[in-house]
Amino acid sequence: MRCPYCQHTDSRVLESRSTESGQSVRRRRECLRCKHRFTTYERIEFVPLTVVKRDGRRESFDRSKLLRGIVRACEKTGIPQRRLEVLVEEIEAELQHRFGREVNSNQVGELVLRYLRGESEVAYVRFASVYRQFQGIRDFVETLDHLQSDAELIETTQASPTAVSEAEQQEAPESVMTPS
Ligand SMILES: [Zn+2]
Repeated sequence: MRCPYCQHTDSRVLESRSTESGQSVRRRRECLRCKHRFTTYERIEFVPLTVVKRDGRRESFDRSKLLRGIVRACEKTGIPQRRLEVLVEEIEAELQHRFGREVNSNQVGELVLRYLRGESEVAYVRFASVYRQFQGIRDFVETLDHLQSDAELIETTQASPTAVSEAEQQEAPESVMTPS
């Protein structure tokens, strides 16, 4: 099992458990060289995943097609190819875990967006523009607005505990008395 960060082949398993469906084993590993941690999904047997398209047509899940779409969205974002391959593996495993043998293309797209969001905002918007079939600039602006308001929400949530602890520190007599 190659480390996705440094390509080293030896890793130790930190945690191992089979998914609910019992079709694959999820392993949390740590690279013995660079100490990065990563997750692998090892398939016990091949269970084909079928994607139901918007027009009702069915096709088998095509991992390389999904990877191509993600690579395109991530162009010039500096995310290594290997990382994108890991993303695709994780997306496929999560789809199988959550939906079993059949998913619709909408569920695939939304899950991809969720994963890309954690990687790059640029990639997220690019993928959304293709997948959600943006018609014009307004769709981009709306998506960016959503990203922006979510980011502000996170900032606000993170800011409150800090503000409280700063206030507490100021009230503490020790900090007032300590010469700086
Ligand atoms: Zn490594």
